[in-house]
Amino acid sequence: MCRIGVLALQGSFREHVQALTKCAVHAYEVRLPDQLKAADGLIVPGGESTVIDKLIKKYGFKAHLDHFFRAGKPMMGTCAGMIMLAGKVLGQDIGWGYINLTVERNAYGRQIDSFEQDIDLNLNCRKGQDFKGIFIRAPKIVKVGTDVQILGMLGKEAVLVRQNHVVACSFHPELCRDLRIHQYFVQMIKKNKRES
Ligand code: GLN
Repeated sequence: MCRIGVLALQGSFREHVQALTKCAVHAYEVRLPDQLKAADGLIVPGGESTVIDKLIKKYGFKAHLDHFFRAGKPMMGTCAGMIMLAGKVLGQDIGWGYINLTVERNAYGRQIDSFEQDIDLNLNCRKGQDFKGIFIRAPKIVKVGTDVQILGMLGKEAVLVRQNHVVACSFHPELCRDLRIHQYFVQMIKKNKRES
């Protein structure tokens, strides 16, 4: 069975564990670096990227995450999680450089400007599907680097992207009942497991 870790330092990790459990995989909370070893894939949840960054440093996670990334194991970052995975974060020295994106924190406005809006999904080359995007003080993807595939758009902006084994989105798929994005990630992990 495939085992998926959810980084559980801060933020909406419980909701991700619940969504993954509904996809019939073994999902568990990762609180310490050693717990990464058992995972076939990892989700970095939304929350507050500055807090996640501090806790990553405090618990000495970074080298273990780099190892996980270099091993080619799938990773998905949602909202603050996307900020953590990004190559560049405007004005700030956070971002682990796992996906070739430039992002801007809080670029859709403040907490009060949080919103729900349908996004156009393009998963598995199937265009024209809607997905309820829940945006909470969301980061914006301001530059999509080369080799990054766009899997979801909000109007003219990319909001769900993938580069090789790394997926990132600026919204919160774990907060709605729709499991398609989690299922997509689970399929990536199963394929990676079969092939490695
Ligand atoms: N505004 C948060 C940050 O910059 C992200 C918000 C979220 O994850 N919902 O880290």
